[in-house]
Amino acid sequence: MIIDSHTHITDKNSDLFKELETSNIDGINIICVSGLFEEENVIPMVNENRTKDKQIYLTSSISLDDFQINKAFENFDRFNFIKIHPRVQSLVYEDIRKILIDLRSKHILKPIIIDMFPYRTDRFRINYNRPINYEELLIEFNDYNFVFAHFGGIYLREVFMMLKCYKNLYADTSLITRYFKDSPIDDELYYFIKRLEGEKVLYGSDYPEMKLQESLDLQLKKMQSIGMKSNHIERVLGKNFLDLLSC
Ligand SMILES: [Zn+2]
Repeated sequence: MIIDSHTHITDKNSDLFKELETSNIDGINIICVSGLFEEENVIPMVNENRTKDKQIYLTSSISLDDFQINKAFENFDRFNFIKIHPRVQSLVYEDIRKILIDLRSKHILKPIIIDMFPYRTDRFRINYNRPINYEELLIEFNDYNFVFAHFGGIYLREVFMMLKCYKNLYADTSLITRYFKDSPIDDELYYFIKRLEGEKVLYGSDYPEMKLQESLDLQLKKMQSIGMKSNHIERVLGKNFLDLLSC
């Protein structure tokens, strides 16, 4: 079972479903990001494009905005994950803590995906999104499972050690292979995935940043060429995602 855990729909003319149909991928997780192309646009497209042989999972994004949180709560049964994107949403650590306290008080225990690609914008500093800064969050909210998207970008070494230390942490492979293509950082990612024997790692393309099948071919080739065992590769490509959903 191959699941792409990290895809987006960014406009009405998205080719995501067409690509899914013709790819070797069995399912996708579509992540809605607040402020970009949102749930109310994505859900009708998902309903129109559901087929028997492909699975579609959905991730809702929430922010500090009460209206948004309430909207997500009304819909939350439909969603498999909740996404927080600190950089796009200009959320700092304390904001994320408040969101989690609110979620917990409402007994919403879905896995939380946090974008973890440190980058600067006008209102956001690189350091706000450094993986190691979230260590206390993993401890305080140890009843939640977290996925650090993009494996922490250039801080993937931190994420590797944190994956080894925190049972409730996962990371996805999206973006690294494109952003750092053919660099030592990309090689390190696969070294770490091999060291982890494929555990705690979720395959992701960050579509439309990369085409679905092209991303899969590239990352699969990387894992095979470094000599990963096929059952460890299977974990990355889908098993971990399904295990996380069934927690
Ligand atoms: Zn993304």
